[in-house]
Formats: sequence, structure tokens, C-alpha cells
Amino acid sequence: MQYQAPANDLGFLLFDVLGVDKLHELEKYADATPDLISAVIEEAGKLASEVIQPTNQIGDRQGCQYNPETHEVTTPDGFKEAYAKFVEGGWTALDAPLEYGGQGLPHTLKFVVDEMMCSTNLSLGMYPGLTHGAISALHSHGSDELKDTYLEKLISGEWTGTMCLTEPQCGTDLGMIRTKATPNDDGSYAIEGTKIWITGGEHDLVDNIVHLVLAKLPGAPDTTKGISLFVVPKVLPDTGERNPAFCGGLEHKMGIKGSATCVMNFEGAKGWLVGEPNDGMRAMFTMMNEARLMVGMQGLGLAEMAYQESLDFARERLQSRSLSGKKNPDGPADPIIVHPDVRRMLMRQKVLNEGMRALALFTGQKLDLAVAHPDEAVREASDDIVQLLTPVVKAFLTDEGYNNANIGLQVLGGSGFTTDWPLEQLVRDGRIARIYEGTNGIQAMDLVGRKLGLKGGQLVRTLFGELTGYLKDNPEAPHREELKGAMKALESTTMWIGTNAPKDPEQAGAAATPYLRLMALTVIAYLWSRMAGVAQAQLDKGEGNTPLLEGKLISARFFFEKLLPEIDMLQKDIETGKDSMMAYGDDHWAA
Ligand SMILES: Cc1cc2nc3c(=O)[nH]c(=O)nc-3n(C[C@H](O)[C@H](O)[C@H](O)COP(=O)(O)OP(=O)(O)OC[C@H]3O[C@@H](n4cnc5c(N)ncnc54)[C@H](O)[C@@H]3O)c2cc1C
Repeated sequence: MQYQAPANDLGFLLFDVLGVDKLHELEKYADATPDLISAVIEEAGKLASEVIQPTNQIGDRQGCQYNPETHEVTTPDGFKEAYAKFVEGGWTALDAPLEYGGQGLPHTLKFVVDEMMCSTNLSLGMYPGLTHGAISALHSHGSDELKDTYLEKLISGEWTGTMCLTEPQCGTDLGMIRTKATPNDDGSYAIEGTKIWITGGEHDLVDNIVHLVLAKLPGAPDTTKGISLFVVPKVLPDTGERNPAFCGGLEHKMGIKGSATCVMNFEGAKGWLVGEPNDGMRAMFTMMNEARLMVGMQGLGLAEMAYQESLDFARERLQSRSLSGKKNPDGPADPIIVHPDVRRMLMRQKVLNEGMRALALFTGQKLDLAVAHPDEAVREASDDIVQLLTPVVKAFLTDEGYNNANIGLQVLGGSGFTTDWPLEQLVRDGRIARIYEGTNGIQAMDLVGRKLGLKGGQLVRTLFGELTGYLKDNPEAPHREELKGAMKALESTTMWIGTNAPKDPEQAGAAATPYLRLMALTVIAYLWSRMAGVAQAQLDKGEGNTPLLEGKLISARFFFEKLLPEIDMLQKDIETGKDSMMAYGDDHWAA
């Protein structure tokens, strides 16, 4: 079926609930008028369904091809043309800095476009996706010379970027990298080493690929404190010479087959330092934080596509009769959408997807306020929330995005398991998002081990401040008591971790994953309360799209009744601590 961008839900969220249309009142985002936001939604939706989606299945079937003679990689049929249209439409430049040819629009709009790209071809979306991270890292940490050399072409989409961290012996623990950077006489460095699983490391969409590579300078400490970041182009921009940074082969994977996942051999390739020596992780984190938010949108995008497919199927497929009497008396059976168990699956998909979209766009809006608001206090509070929620968006949206794609497959029954339907591809494609950009377990560790303690606990206090402020200002907030219950659970578990983790860090490690889920569900509860409040107010005034608004009220009720109660279990999981998890000795595992 053809993808339909969730334009109505986006309009409701961006304009009516979050007030993203007000961003144009800030000087930096003066161009982001409501009309422009609507145009972005409409045009990106068209591009996604008409240009990007037709390349998705063929990308999966063909995959990328590697030529060992030339070290070149060919992308699947149609990718080059679709990427060219993406570039032509200016989508690579959407929220990129104006001074290098970007459009300087709010990041929230980039989130919107990311979701649509990922719904319709996740593999293709990754080429510009990683480029965007490279742009941010260079813009924030590169010298003026590096910025002048690379940014315009990356922003225009004429070149793409990569992020080269992983090596055979290390993925999570980057302190162990072995790639070396030796100073050359001309101020550049000779980069030597092998990186693996590099997305877009080599391909035929563009003529030049700009690698951002983590490497160690001579004598650097053997930890993450000894890592530096280098920009290593495939083709040297000044001379046009081919730099010895070659693809040594492609990974064979269960999904995202149209995305080239490359072994990259750096054989004395020329590179230039980005930022300060031994400070590469800081620069790379600029790129990773951004990429984490984008990967969160991958989870949501796939889940949205899976929902649309499964809804369509559930309305068509005739099996059995409704438990409350025939709904399709002229047919041999009723459509499966009448069955409570099928509706349970569809409701979970729809309600969680809309909640996750709200969480992502709420975070996107905070990102925009953090960079553009004139009041320093607002900027700081917004940044607190972005920092806190970045791992939450990455992990929760990819976990639940994957689960929702899987639930979508279940709605289709045996058809979902066959390659005649797109669900199995969505499930295969979605699995990686829980792993790369730091596994979801590592996201949870980042939240509990780093973010909770930052600024003396200020980040989580800022979040609580926003939630309690909402309840104070809205005494009639829908589902108020359930939201208060979730906030209490979050507060109690935050204090439990604050008390127990300093004495025993393994307690933080054991609590991390359930705590991240608890925080995600609590913030989504806050947003469902807000969405229901706006929907009710509009219905009372007789404004808006009635089925959408009524649906929001029902969906909010489903969320609070059927999904939010998971927090009780999560709280118990956290507050019973690590003991039963850590008590096994070596002889217990296989006994
Ligand atoms: C398709 C694909 C594309 C990729 N693209 C890129 C790319 O463009 N650039 C790049 O640099 N890399 C890329 N990667 C690599 C990816 O980022 C890593 O696979 C990921 O970070 C995990 O590292 P690992 O696979 O080595 O797992 P490991 O680090 O070996 O981890 C294995 C398991 O142990 C857990 N674990 C490890 N350490 C801890 C800890 N301290 N506490 C708790 N749990 C822990 C992990 O959560 C995981 O479950 C890609 C990988 C794939 C498969």
C-alpha cells in the first residue's frame, strides 16, 4: 500500500499541542511560519510516498554490491535517482546553518522529515542521516578552514559523511581503538587502521565521502581520553587525488540491505584534526547525540508504516464472526478488525506511535528552544531536557518501534511472515536500530550513570519542574491522578538510584533499562494528558477534526488504562535491586 504521511496527527501535535508554530516568533526561526511548516509536512509526505517508498523493497531484495577489484560499492536500483530528488528538493539542508547554504529551519521539522524517510526507506535515509551528524560535528568543533572546505558540499548533499568509530575489537568500549594518526609535515595526519560496520563508508550516490574517524595520536592515553577526531575525505578536495581510504568489503545483514555497511581500511590516508588533540570523544558526541535522536525516529518511522499496513489488512481480511454478532452479514465472515485481540494490537500500535511521536517532537522543540530562545534560563532548561531525553528517545522509540512492527506482523498472521507483504522487512530493518549508535542498554547506562548526576541532578529536576508545573496550571488535566502516580514512581525510583548507586554502581547498572522505560512512559503520560486536554477543549468549542479529536480522547484512555500500568512492574524491578540478577556463580549458568 502507499504510505500516507501522518499529516493530521502532525498538525495537531505541532500546532495545537506543542505550539511549534510559535517558533517563528524567535529571530533565528523567523522563516518557520505556520504555512511553511504545513508545506514541509505536505511536500515531505509526497516525496516519501511517491519517490522514496518505491525504492524500499527493491533495495531489500538487491542489497548493495561490492566490487573487490575497484573497492567500489553499488547501491540498489533507484537509490541514486531518489537520493538526487531528495537533494534537489533541498531536504539535506533543511535545518543546516544558513552561513554554509543551509535553510536554518527548526530541528523539529527535521525530525518530522526523518520519520517519513524512515517509514518509506530506512536504508536510503541513512546516507543523508549520517551526513547530517558529520555536518554538526564539523560545524561545532572544526576550524574555519575545515568548515569552509567541507560544510557547503555536505549540506547541499553533493558529498555525504560517515562516522567511523567501531573496530573489530571494540564497539561499546571505544577506549580500545587502535587506529593511529601520525603527524605529517604539512599539518595533516596519516591515518592507519581498520574500521568495521561503517554506514555509507563507500557507495555510488555521490563523488566524495567525508569520513569522520576516531584515532589515537602517538603517545596518547590508552583510554577514551586518548582519542582524537579526524576528517578524512575519500577524494582530497584541493588536488582531486584519491585518498587511500578503501572499502574492504560489505557486511551481510538481516536487514537494511540497501544501506552499505562497510569495512573501511585506512592505509595512511590523509586526515585533519577536528577540535583539540585527545578531545575527539567530545566532538564525536555532538554527532552521536544527534544521530541518537535520528535513530529514535527510525524506530517510530518503521512502526508507523507497520501500523498503516496492519490497519489496512485488518479491515480487509475476513475471518470468523464478531463476538457481538455479525458485522458483515453479506460476507462469509467479518473483517478481523472486529476482534478484541486484533484491536488490542492495533490500539497498542496507534497509541504508542502517537505517544512516541509526541515525545520526539517535544524533545525536538526543546532542542530548538535551547539554541534559539533569547532568555538564557529557557535555553538552559530546554537543554537539560534534551540531554536527559536523548537516550530515552533513542532507546524507547527503537524498542517500541520494533515491538510495534512485530505486532503489525502478528496482525497479518501467516501473510506477515511471507515476503509477499512488507511487514517482515520492516521487522528485519527495525532490529538494528536497537543496537547501533550505542545499544539500548548503553543508552540506559548513559541516562542513569551520566545524565542523572549531571549538574548535581539538575536535569531530572528540570523535567519534574515541567511536569509539576503542568499539573499546577491545569487542575482539570485529563488523567491527572494516573499521571501523578507515574511521577511519584519516577521520583521514588530516582531517589532509590540516588541512594543506592553511589554505594554500589552495579545497582545503577541493574536499574538502568527499567528506569529508562519508566521515564519514557511518564513523559508520554504527560504528553497524552496534554493531547487529551487540547482535544477536549477543541471538541467543546466545536472546532477541529472531530474523529481525530474523539480518537485522541479514547487513545489517551487506552494509554492510561492499558499501557501506563507497566510502571508498577518497572518500579518493583528497580527497587528490588540487583541481587537476584548478580547472584549466579560460574557454575550456575549451565547447570
Ligand atoms: C548495520 C550496522 C551499522 C553500523 N554503523 C556504524 C557506523 O556507521 N559507524 C560506527 O562506528 N559503527 C557502526 N556500527 C557499529 C555499532 O555502533 C556497534 O555494533 C554498537 O555500538 C555495539 O557495539 P558491538 O557490536 O561491538 O557490541 P559490544 O560492545 O560487544 O556489546 C555486546 C553487548 O554487551 C553489552 N555491553 C557492552 N558493554 C556494556 C556495559 N559497559 N554495560 C552494559 N552492557 C554492555 C551491549 O549493550 C551489547 O548488548 C554499526 C553496526 C551495524 C550492525
